[in-house]
Amino acid sequence: MDKNELRRKYIEIRNNIEKKEEKSYIIQNEIIKTDAYKKAQVVALYKSLASEVNTDYLIEHSLNLKKIVCLPKVEGEDINFYQINDSKEKLLASKFGVFEPQGNVRRIIPKGAIDIAIVPGVAFDEKCNRLGFGKGYYDRFLKSSGIKTIGICFENQVLKDDIIPTQKHDVLMDCIIAEERTISKDIQKYDIYIKEKGM
Ligand code: ADP
Ligand code: MG
Repeated sequence: MDKNELRRKYIEIRNNIEKKEEKSYIIQNEIIKTDAYKKAQVVALYKSLASEVNTDYLIEHSLNLKKIVCLPKVEGEDINFYQINDSKEKLLASKFGVFEPQGNVRRIIPKGAIDIAIVPGVAFDEKCNRLGFGKGYYDRFLKSSGIKTIGICFENQVLKDDIIPTQKHDVLMDCIIAEERTISKDIQKYDIYIKEKGM
C-alpha cells in the first residue's frame, strides 16, 4: 500500500479504537517513566484531537514539573513551537482543526532548545517509521535537529508484519510508545527500553 492508502486505512482504524482514555493514560505514564523525558527541560508536545492519543495529562504534568512546554503552530510551510504557561490557556483552532497557541515572538522556542518531542502520527511501524498527516511538517521540523523523538499512538496504529514506505525526507522516531509496548530504535543511545507489557 502506498502512503495515501495507508493513511486512509489507519485514520479509519484510529477512529474506531475503543477505550481511548484508558489507553492514553497508560501511554502518557510510559512517557513520564523514560529517562529521556525525565532529563528533558524543554518538551515539545501537541494538543490532541479527539481521535488521537490524549496528551492533556502529560501537558499538565510537564507544567507541574516546571518543564518548558511548547506546542506546534502551522506557519506557512512550517511548524513552529510556542511556549504555553498554563494548561488552561486558550488555544485557537487552525485551518486543520488543530488547537494551537497564539504565536508571538516572545514565546517562540528555538529548535535548538527543544530536548524531546512527543510526535503524533496516523501510523507507525516496528522500525520506528512514521506516517504523518501528509504534509511533512514534522519531517521538515525534526530533520537534523538532534531532538529526541517519541512517536505515540494506540497499539492498533502500529503496522504488523509490514513497513511504512518511506522517502529520504522522512524522519525516523527514536522510539514509539503504544499502550501495549515501547519500540525503540537505539536502546543504548536513548536509554529507552523495549518492553512488552507484563514482562
Ligand atoms: P507525512 O510525514 O506528514 O506523512 P510525507 O512524508 O508524505 O508526509 O511528506 C509530505 C510532503 O512533504 C511530501 O510531498 C514531501 O515532498 C514534503 N516534504 C517533507 N519533508 C520535506 C523536506 N525535508 N524537504 C522538502 N519537502 C519535504
Ligand atoms: Mg513523512
